[in-house]
Amino acid sequence: DPAVARTAVRTTCPYCGVGCGIRATPTGDGGLTVAGDSDHPANRGRLCSKGSALAETTDLENRLLAPRIDGREAGWNEALDLVADRFREAIDQHGPDSVAFYVSGQLLTEDYYVANKLMKGFIGSANIDTNSRLCMASSVAGHRRAFGTDTVPGLYEDLEEAELIVLVGSNLAWCHPVLFQRIAAARKANPALRIVNIDPRRTATSDIADLHLAIAPAGDVALWNALLAHLADTGAVNDSYVAAHVGGFKAALEAARDTDPALSGLSPEEIAEFLALWSGTERVVTIYSQGVNQSSAGTDKVNAILNCHLATGRIGRPGMGPFSVTGQPNAMGGREVGGLANMLACHLDIENPEHRAAVRAFWGAPAMPEAPGLKAVDMFRAVADGRIKALWIICTNPAVSMPDADAVRDAIAGCAFTVVSDITGQTDTARLAHVLLPATGWAEKDGTVTNSERCISRQRGLLPAPGQARHDWRILSDVAVRMGWAQAFDYASPAEIFREYAALSGIAGQLGRDFDISAKASLTDAEYERLEPFHWPCTANRSGERFFAEGGFFTGDRRARMLPVSHRPPQSRPDAEFPFVLNTGRVRDHWHTMTRTGKSPRLSQHIGEPFLEVHPEDAARLGLAPASVAVVTSRHGTALLRVLITDRVRPGEVFAPMHWTGETAPSGRIDALVAPQTDPVSGQPESKASVVAIRPM
Ligand code: SF4
Repeated sequence: DPAVARTAVRTTCPYCGVGCGIRATPTGDGGLTVAGDSDHPANRGRLCSKGSALAETTDLENRLLAPRIDGREAGWNEALDLVADRFREAIDQHGPDSVAFYVSGQLLTEDYYVANKLMKGFIGSANIDTNSRLCMASSVAGHRRAFGTDTVPGLYEDLEEAELIVLVGSNLAWCHPVLFQRIAAARKANPALRIVNIDPRRTATSDIADLHLAIAPAGDVALWNALLAHLADTGAVNDSYVAAHVGGFKAALEAARDTDPALSGLSPEEIAEFLALWSGTERVVTIYSQGVNQSSAGTDKVNAILNCHLATGRIGRPGMGPFSVTGQPNAMGGREVGGLANMLACHLDIENPEHRAAVRAFWGAPAMPEAPGLKAVDMFRAVADGRIKALWIICTNPAVSMPDADAVRDAIAGCAFTVVSDITGQTDTARLAHVLLPATGWAEKDGTVTNSERCISRQRGLLPAPGQARHDWRILSDVAVRMGWAQAFDYASPAEIFREYAALSGIAGQLGRDFDISAKASLTDAEYERLEPFHWPCTANRSGERFFAEGGFFTGDRRARMLPVSHRPPQSRPDAEFPFVLNTGRVRDHWHTMTRTGKSPRLSQHIGEPFLEVHPEDAARLGLAPASVAVVTSRHGTALLRVLITDRVRPGEVFAPMHWTGETAPSGRIDALVAPQTDPVSGQPESKASVVAIRPM
């Protein structure tokens, strides 16, 4: 009985994509103590403020403890019957594409696998997308264009082996604190390690940097193209690597030479210093995150970075490579399992007939979509215009976190049938649901997650499920059984799901894909319970290695592709009516829409309310006093934010955090202001460059 266990249980932090290992000990009275797991390769005992405060977030206040239908408590059978009936009705009357799942990078892999199997293999639609679309989709698309699959080539230990670390569009100190601590420790051990931070804002991450480049919001392609041209001009291209393993060099270089470096918004001196440093340092890791991804040119920005690593062959060898760090604890697991509307499980492609046939045969699936489904922004547009008749939202709060959040909230409110499964019924999204299903939370769930370096770790149940809460994989399976697919969803445990998933990955490996963990396909339940963190690939012959040092890309000819990319400004441009560019992001001690971190008073001590960073020149011009409230409006919505006057932001640009909701001042419903504009390749929204007007309240 986990409730009476007194020994520490090894599990994983449920917040960011660093994926820190935790030793958690139930105290016997329903509580926990937590400490970093010194044996976990991601954190080696370290934890940040959020991970350390996990024990303060597991109480039952605001927990959803029983199913609810239209606000009244209901039994599981009634609720599940209703969900299955309404989805079946919509499919029968309007076809499989009239239903959709919107899921989460916080689901465990086993939950994600079952949701994906149900939608893509049995309902027969690809309308399953995830909040990772808001986070990682541009990296996925960039990887797939360059490498032929969604591979992160390197490992965290590259940070300790590097001579230069470039952090692009990443406030790592606040958003991935333990990775930042690893870099700080690496610098202490090796004072020669150079660090560059490329970000329009000066952040806590900039404090460690030798060089902070306050780039223009869309300046990345111009800077990386300038680097590619410089590499070619100075003989720094690795000709033998390019000749053996890379295609597209000439076209990419031509596009680079056609780009004006001044579009980066940096001075010639700043650009020259960066080019010389990057070009002249062999062991360079380029870490990039949402500042790159959350852009209408996000995929091109990713490929501009990958181009430079491919041209120099600085990839997949110790201490070098491009490194996308994921925002969510299981964004990677979701990508691997096919949680995005344009992917199948195990990095198989939905548009590839051979891949589709293999997955269909493996699942014994009655139906399989032949084209990608609706990506997040398009999915909620389809909800708004009535094309989606039944929507199931799992473990996420899109009424707050989606761009154009007010319109998304209204779309959900107007949907003919909405199901929400979550740990609480108190989110802005849950309040709109016809059916609320109580799910287990972090401390109660068993399964696996994959962190940013391809390390798969167990999350282990520590506390009993409260009330009538059920695991997500079980809720999904219960509905699938009621829809007529009992045989395919007859799961008894997450171990069983994991074995099936690992076996499918072996088929993916035979089809030449990178994601293969088939060595784990025959784990016993006891071995699954004891499973140690491991990196993929994990097969009979391969284990956890880096990718691409010797080529071996996952394209038809096994060569990587360099992409010709050009500067593109953000889709919304400042004008007389909306003269400021709004950047959004995280603060150190809160997580997403605060359903958990909001429970810890300690975490709110750092920053307790939503704010707007405004440059002193702009504040003076607008008549904004320090700590006053500003009214911030866009074409899509309004927020009331506490004014923080600082030269951390550039003139004409402002920053606000993403976590808060509510309607009274200060009100941080910041995604209500963000335009639903997306990258044409990845579908990722442009969350870092909205245009807004600002006035004193
Ligand atoms: Fe959790 Fe991320 Fe902090 Fe590690 S760095 S303890 S995974 S929030």
